[in-house]
Amino acid sequence: MRKYYRFIDGLRRFVKSRMEPEEALGLARSLLRKRIAEREENFLRLAERSIFKYPRSPYLPLLAAKRIAFSDLQSWVSKYGLEASLHTLAAEGVYFTVDEFKGKIPVRRGGITFVCDEGMFDNPNLRFVYEVRSGATRSAGTRIRIDFDYLHQRSLYDAFLLDLHGCLTSPIANWFPVFPGAPGINSSLRFAHIGNPAQRWFSQVAEDQVHVNWEKRWGTKTIFAVQRFYRFPLAEPEYVGVNDAHRIAQWASQALNEHSNCVIYTFAASAVRVCIAAAEANLNLKGAKFLVTGEPLTPHKKREIESAGAIAIPVYGISEAGVVAAGCNQAHTTSDHCHLYKDTTAIITHRQVVPNFDCSLDSFLFTSLLHESPKLLLNVGMGDFGDVGSASCECEFGKLGFDTTLGNIRSYEKLTGEGVTFVDTDFVQIIEKELPECFGGKSTDYQLIEEEGSKGFTRLQLVVSPRVGKVNEGEVLDKFMILLRRGTASPESWAQSGVEMWRQSGMVRIQRDYPLSTASGKILPFHLRKPLNQTREYATK
Ligand SMILES: [Zn+2]
Repeated sequence: MRKYYRFIDGLRRFVKSRMEPEEALGLARSLLRKRIAEREENFLRLAERSIFKYPRSPYLPLLAAKRIAFSDLQSWVSKYGLEASLHTLAAEGVYFTVDEFKGKIPVRRGGITFVCDEGMFDNPNLRFVYEVRSGATRSAGTRIRIDFDYLHQRSLYDAFLLDLHGCLTSPIANWFPVFPGAPGINSSLRFAHIGNPAQRWFSQVAEDQVHVNWEKRWGTKTIFAVQRFYRFPLAEPEYVGVNDAHRIAQWASQALNEHSNCVIYTFAASAVRVCIAAAEANLNLKGAKFLVTGEPLTPHKKREIESAGAIAIPVYGISEAGVVAAGCNQAHTTSDHCHLYKDTTAIITHRQVVPNFDCSLDSFLFTSLLHESPKLLLNVGMGDFGDVGSASCECEFGKLGFDTTLGNIRSYEKLTGEGVTFVDTDFVQIIEKELPECFGGKSTDYQLIEEEGSKGFTRLQLVVSPRVGKVNEGEVLDKFMILLRRGTASPESWAQSGVEMWRQSGMVRIQRDYPLSTASGKILPFHLRKPLNQTREYATK
């Protein structure tokens, strides 16, 4: 019972400490500036308390194997700086790949071998955590953690970001699925906390299309009950399917009649849908600012959004650390150019062989510097890669000292069509084992090919080799969606919401053809039309 009490108590405090927009902005400015100045000290304090003095820390065996003491880290940071020290740690084997972090493969460094589970990385400092584990029997379990101190910290970045784009008090709408918790409920809570609550919360998925356990429903209902009691304005989710984007376009158009701009926070593909719907209805979205997240803001998607007169602002987050970077208001050549929130996150890259893609990539390694971060990350990979650079910028982020930039961010571990993420274990098993068992053929007779279609939407072709013989294509597609909906690795409710959105958008199509192989001749379960490291591809017969 204690956890429910803690949840309600944390929520109550969060709701009661609601700010005015200017107040939130002032606090954000002073706090971000302070944390930038004290970045290295904050890192060392967190590392000492939550790693070196925390006996259950998964980092201790790696550090002990190399006889790295806290005093070593202290002296490296003071001599060479934080990022150089993180590179040194990575070179000494102090890092976790995403597969190691998730316990999919054992950690092997020098003479030591062990298996992680995600719980080992939980931040022991959190106070008001609401935590549930999904009850699906096949599922490894997925946790939702909402810490209200953490949401408070996150909301300050929202105030800063909105102000940077001239919309601190502009009307906001969210278009995110009702379940699971983030980002729909979290962003609603955060915007309300900084005194500019989302006016509408549209959800691509209806509540009865997703079956989640009672705790998640209870958590959501409790949030709305407490919110009503304290008159904390929170819009209730309204179902708007992915093919009804014109309703979002109409909301934006009406908001723009009365205000110089408005904000729509959604997935990149959903933003493209709104802009296409606006063009079809002759609605001008000049002044609309789309905060887009959940999937890469590719050049194609950015162009589609801008052609409606709107602006696309990338917001890059990972579930283990929240939003870690966002785009500014200056022109940049990279479509997803972001400033890293470097006061609370450090990112270095680490060259790594990615087996499922048959290539090497510069994988991001994340380090959390925030006391309230849900997970304590020290050089942990999340399956993302891209460019990390350093550049000055005229924008407010630049003035603050956010001079680390990210761009060309992609994932090698997830499928992120329509903003919904499936991790590779969900579909590799389906492609290599379950479809051949149902419809015949071998593990290499099926393949998912990802490409970006003409409107900037991600499309997936489910390739079935002619070697399999005659099959009912509709049945293969239905079976694939049923298996994916079961989601063994993705959060249970994400898998359900994701499949529902993919069904609405017709994202997956069957193609009878031979699976494609990589340059080195391998046939992989998942293939990108444009290979990650730009190698050539060959069709095989
Ligand atoms: Zn900038």
